[in-house]
Amino acid sequence: MKKLFFILFSAILFWQCSAQNSFTSANKNFKTDKPKLVVGIIVDQMRYDYLHRFYGKFGNSGFKRLLENGHVLEDVHLNYTPTHTAVGHSSIFTGTTPSIHGIIANNWYDKKLKKTIYCVNDKNYHTIGGNIGGEKSPYRLQVTTIADQLHLAQVGKGKTIGISMKDRSAILPIGHTANAAYWFNSKGNGKFITSSFYMDKLPKWVTIFNNKNLPDSYLKKDWNTLYNIKDYTESISDHNTFEKKLKGEKDVTFTHSIAEMYKKKKDFSLINFTPSANTLLLEFAKATITGEKLGKNKYTDFLSISFSATDYIGHQFGVDSKEVEDAYIRLDKDLANLLSFLDKKIGQNKYTLFLTADHGALPTLPYLKSLKIPSHFFDLKDFTKYINTLTDKKYHSKNLIENISNYQIFFNKDELKRLKIKPNKLANYLVENSINYKGISKCFTAKDMQTGNFNEQIVKYTQNGYNQKISGDVLLIPQPNTVSYMKKGTEHSTGYSYDTHIPLIFYGFGIKKGVTKKFIPVIDIAPTISNILKIENPNGNKGTIITRVLK
Ligand SMILES: [Zn+2]
Repeated sequence: MKKLFFILFSAILFWQCSAQNSFTSANKNFKTDKPKLVVGIIVDQMRYDYLHRFYGKFGNSGFKRLLENGHVLEDVHLNYTPTHTAVGHSSIFTGTTPSIHGIIANNWYDKKLKKTIYCVNDKNYHTIGGNIGGEKSPYRLQVTTIADQLHLAQVGKGKTIGISMKDRSAILPIGHTANAAYWFNSKGNGKFITSSFYMDKLPKWVTIFNNKNLPDSYLKKDWNTLYNIKDYTESISDHNTFEKKLKGEKDVTFTHSIAEMYKKKKDFSLINFTPSANTLLLEFAKATITGEKLGKNKYTDFLSISFSATDYIGHQFGVDSKEVEDAYIRLDKDLANLLSFLDKKIGQNKYTLFLTADHGALPTLPYLKSLKIPSHFFDLKDFTKYINTLTDKKYHSKNLIENISNYQIFFNKDELKRLKIKPNKLANYLVENSINYKGISKCFTAKDMQTGNFNEQIVKYTQNGYNQKISGDVLLIPQPNTVSYMKKGTEHSTGYSYDTHIPLIFYGFGIKKGVTKKFIPVIDIAPTISNILKIENPNGNKGTIITRVLK
């Protein structure tokens, strides 16, 4: 009897094994190969329409190479507010929104600490490679990134690195388990630095790169247009009153006298306002790939590169400026340089690349006004006064509001308790009255955000940006074309298309060439890359795979 069981058992085992073997060999759709390297490129403040606006000015091997050989998604949007840099970088790489990942702005009012905090500041760590600027970590990001999941899947093997001119744009995309994040110390020594969160000492290749003093040589040159300014037909006149002057400069027009300003004050942050900051980061990206031997290993590596100069230049001169046009003409050359470097080092089709942006921006307020397009300035100081007058009138207290920031009102819970006011009662009162304030389109209470089911997209986006633990007690939605701090130059933060509509191109290993016009939320990037890597999604993911871009 026992023998019979054994024979039967062996037969079943054999049948199962051979069935499994025939599954792997027969199902050709079940692929096991992976890219050697994933490169995630973020162009800070790149609007979707720039791809078309500057297309005629691009060469063949930069943006055009990606557009013609990759998969282009034409209607990709950030699906939350506020559309700030830290939030964008977090959402792209985690596949989720502030309601879950917890990065609700660049800076926000911390209800527990009762002070405004910066998204990546962390006093537990110190600067590596300089004296200041490195006291950072990603601890406020409450979920994992694609790179974290890659580390989990490869049991810590393979390298994951984030680089940018901005600390938050280097740290947040790459996550908690990163081998390194490096950013430019613009307020200090003008070198690439990191935090003791990642390491105790800079690798030799970073020190060698820093010792080349490239920022110093870039800042000794003035910024002029690459081509004849007369051919810059995709932007408004350089002589206008819409742009913000660079600190220490007399005029807003080309030539920008960078060398003279740098000579007067050795301020490395000046480089951020010139296209040289992108070229510097490109050179640093190449040094990273070589120095860390990325893509040379048995395991997949991950590199995020966030170009920041486009954002600084956009803020300063506005989206329609000659400066922005020149910045993209030059970025196209940097991108071409990076792509040919990747071909040489990693090999064509051995890496997967995606290029997107963390937010867009709107035309400058005075330019909109000159065109008679409705636009508004939301004056925070005046609004705060208005709110305090309201609370004083009804509750005889000017201490009920602790903070107003990022279009959110935070209550002083102790004062509410003292006066025996229910938070929702005060919230309803402020909603009823804030709606009358200029530049405000809609208002909601925290309770609405927690329980509401909204059809209007702008409200859904606000809800996706609302984090029950962290966010305020009243949420305001500004009218379209409202700015809150840039009377000249531009800004971004809203859930309107000019801020949410971003480019997205997938390219290389595992990608099917094509164009998609369908609406895609930004949170779909992370599960798509996770699928190419054959790994689990980031743990807060709520996006879905964009199947049409996959081979
Ligand atoms: Zn940004």
